[in-house]
Amino acid sequence: MPQTDLFLPDYTVRISPRAKRLQLRVKPTGQVEVVVPKGMALRHVPGFVAEHAQWLEQTVAKTLGRLEHPPHNSTPMLPEHIALTAIGGEWQVSYHPALRARVIDQAAHAQLQVFGSDETQQCAALQGWLNQLAKTTLIPWLEEVSSEIKLPFASATVRAQKSRWGSCSSRKRINLNRALMFTSPGAVRYLFIHELCHTIHMNHSARYWALVATLEPDHRRHEAELRHAMATIPRWALPD
Ligand SMILES: [Zn+2]
Repeated sequence: MPQTDLFLPDYTVRISPRAKRLQLRVKPTGQVEVVVPKGMALRHVPGFVAEHAQWLEQTVAKTLGRLEHPPHNSTPMLPEHIALTAIGGEWQVSYHPALRARVIDQAAHAQLQVFGSDETQQCAALQGWLNQLAKTTLIPWLEEVSSEIKLPFASATVRAQKSRWGSCSSRKRINLNRALMFTSPGAVRYLFIHELCHTIHMNHSARYWALVATLEPDHRRHEAELRHAMATIPRWALPD
């Protein structure tokens, strides 16, 4: 005899020509379905459900719990603290619900206030802030190094990239990864020299490296730093 306080969920019945016996299914939405072999009398169904009441209760609860607390892989973890080594900047970050996504940067107090309706919006606002800061920092810095070593370039852009720190086209257009903001000033300067030398040699030939070495004798150390740094960029700062 099934007990009265047992959990008896609402369920739907599906007649299956292929099923050999009664089966219970809990869908990802938490709904319960009873699969009934074609030709079997439906009067067997309520007893069958009652028999499995305990299993159903646990399984439905688990499934609904998963729905309410989805794994956090949809939005990258939002940082409480940001350190941009390239410019020696550090911020404590606070998050505030608001309809209009925006960031208030109180650099003097090392505080960053991020506004947005949910984590996705707040993350986008934070990425926009990083983009802007990377642009206004890296491009004038590249111009400085370019005139210092007398290797001009045509134009420069800053982008979010996963796998490369920078590039230089045959038209001397330089592209910089905004994640450079997380590396050391020496590594950023080396990356600039690396790309600017491509305005002379569009390859990594011996002559190219000889030119790099005259401008940055320590290039191997910086190259190694950049190779390792890619894996340490916080997830929120990477493109999707
Ligand atoms: Zn290169």
